[in-house]
Amino acid sequence: MINERMAKLPIWFANEDIHDADEPYLPSLLEESFFRWRQEASGLVSLRMGQFGIYTRDVLCHAFSDFIDPADQLDAAICDRLAREAVPDAFSEGVTSKASAEGCHAIAIPLRRRSDNAVFAVLLYTFAGEPDASLTGELESAALHLRSCFYHAFEQLYVRDLIQQQYRKDREANHRDALFLAAKRLYDQIDVSSVLSEMLASLESLYPNSEIHLYLSQDYVDGDPRIKPLAFKNTAHDIVAQAFLESKPAMEHERDGTMRLAVPMTGKQAAYGVLCMTLARGKWDESDMPAFLLLADTAGSAFENAKLYEQSNLLINELRLINEMTKRLNQSLRLKEIFQFATSELLTIFDADYCCVLQLDKTSNEFVVKSSNIPAMASEHFSPEYGFCGMIYRTKEPLIISDYWNTRVVTSKLMDNTGSRSLIAAPIFVDGEVVGVILVTHKIANFFSYDNYKLLQVMSTHIGLAVANASLHAEVRRMVITDTLTGLHARHYLNEQIQSRQRKDPFGSLILVDIDYFKRINDTYGHQVGDRILIQVSSIISSSIRQGDIAARWGGEELAVYLPGIRTEQALRIAERIRNQVAEETDPTVTVSCGVSEWTFDNEKISVESLFYRADMALYEAKNKGRNCIIVGE
Ligand code: GH3
Ligand code: MG
Ligand code: MG
Repeated sequence: MINERMAKLPIWFANEDIHDADEPYLPSLLEESFFRWRQEASGLVSLRMGQFGIYTRDVLCHAFSDFIDPADQLDAAICDRLAREAVPDAFSEGVTSKASAEGCHAIAIPLRRRSDNAVFAVLLYTFAGEPDASLTGELESAALHLRSCFYHAFEQLYVRDLIQQQYRKDREANHRDALFLAAKRLYDQIDVSSVLSEMLASLESLYPNSEIHLYLSQDYVDGDPRIKPLAFKNTAHDIVAQAFLESKPAMEHERDGTMRLAVPMTGKQAAYGVLCMTLARGKWDESDMPAFLLLADTAGSAFENAKLYEQSNLLINELRLINEMTKRLNQSLRLKEIFQFATSELLTIFDADYCCVLQLDKTSNEFVVKSSNIPAMASEHFSPEYGFCGMIYRTKEPLIISDYWNTRVVTSKLMDNTGSRSLIAAPIFVDGEVVGVILVTHKIANFFSYDNYKLLQVMSTHIGLAVANASLHAEVRRMVITDTLTGLHARHYLNEQIQSRQRKDPFGSLILVDIDYFKRINDTYGHQVGDRILIQVSSIISSSIRQGDIAARWGGEELAVYLPGIRTEQALRIAERIRNQVAEETDPTVTVSCGVSEWTFDNEKISVESLFYRADMALYEAKNKGRNCIIVGE
């Protein structure tokens, strides 16, 4: 039953036939069918006398001298002659044709196509001696047999071809699906490293047994051993560099059959690298190329997108940092605070190990460490020629050192003491002059990126502006609280300071100093000499007191000294020292009278006014007492 049904099924490919275009396949097919036929027809005794040959239209494909003893082979020249006579007739007339010469005979039998009976080959039988009467008939049936062997081989080839085609189609469809998924997944990734690992994973699943590498033209550290930097050494022999430079795929075959394919990975704006696949012999199918190129292209665009996204994020972050830092910097007008804030901020921003901010001290002509997270460096000072500071001072340029251990351009105490290898540094400018230097370091070599280096430059500009602001502010304040003639503090500053000390200290003393008969000095020597005396007395006062004491010009030729945490006994000694020195050192000689007063925490009423009032009263008394003396107030 089943067999019957099977038999009824149309074997559609049985209707397929060879076409004129199949001519190139004929020789191998004919050869294959001949050998099959020979096996099957080995029992035909009568055909053992001669030799067979099969001819196609253009050419003799084979002179198969089978069944015949090699010793009985016919003369080749005669065979050739006979073939030339008989074969063309068989082809053109489509009938069995014969030829004879020198006792040899040839019978040529056309082989016809099964669909249209056209002759596609001729079977030639050549033999010596008299032909048997039944020979032609036997040969014609042998030719039919041969033809069926031929079609058998043809159908096999046909089916093989179909299966091959189907296999390719399936494979392409699978690749298309995988590619589509890979592209979708690639575009889902937003950061560069995910794009790259997604792409490598996709390629590895699409081409199992392959070895995939990605060569990137830009610095990129990921730790993935499959991702490498693109090198341009020996470009003539390197298909990776070639693919990048010519922006087209390059391929090479090793002696062992291994194939390497390099395809550039490009986006819309630039080429980013080269994808390189190594496959063992026979694993590559040329039809895979479009898919591979497509994936490289998709990866290039996805990489570019992720890169741009990262860059814009970085930029936004930088702007935010700069904005925040500038705001914070400008909140402070105190240099020390600015430097400290800058140090802690820079350490965080760059994820650095160490930071050092140095300021150029104009009076001592030295760089002084103003802020640092290295305690040993606090207040260190360096000559303006020394180290990286010196380099920056000289060149006015920022610096990036990727590995101090390898490029020891200068000796640096900071780098040596901390064991740092990476450095970014920038000058701090105020009015175009280098007033300071920022040094940021890390123990790992190649730690800072070029972006870090550029960002530090921007930051140092802002720090420079803050320093300029603070310096200006400090200068204005100094001018405001200083008396221009004497260099002592101004009266309002003295008042402020006494007031503030009275809130904190348990006691303090005030000395009022008035030059005796000063009008006379002016009248005698003129105002200029009077001024000089005033300056002399002021400098005697300045040199007679300690750092925390405050000397001020109270008005005219009256000077005042406030001594925090000092009782009258000691104030008296200081006043005495001043009085003596003035009498001894001024030229022309003048004397001073002093009034001293004190306040203590248990006073009924503590105020600047009362302190001054009592000192003034004492001074008045000293004048009355004949001058050049000191009186301590009540
Ligand atoms: P005494 O204090 O001993 O009573 O006599 P005196 O002559 O010093 O008198 P008084 O203190 O009242 O005089 C102050 C004089 O000091 C008046 C003024 O000519 C002079 N004087 C005040 N300020 C300055 C100044 O800045 N430069 C100069 N050259 N003279 C000044
Ligand atoms: Mg006076
Ligand atoms: Mg006076």
